[in-house]
Amino acid sequence: MKAVIAKKRCIGCGLCTDICPSVFKMTVKVYAEVYRKEVPPKYIKNAHEAKENCPVSIISLSE
Ligand code: SF4
Repeated sequence: MKAVIAKKRCIGCGLCTDICPSVFKMTVKVYAEVYRKEVPPKYIKNAHEAKENCPVSIISLSE
């Protein structure tokens, strides 16, 4: 599974990094980015939770 964030629309709330810090991280420009393009199986549940809770719905997950 791959994770993608539409960074230009990120409001920098930090929620995804709180829920799934093994896949998402904040940058010095205060937006989130994916630092593991391939989500390890043990983090898939957390990645889905981050996607569902992103307030601006900009996290995509795909096989
Ligand atoms: S949850 Fe969404 S808006 Fe918040 S930091 Fe992550 S990608 Fe950005």
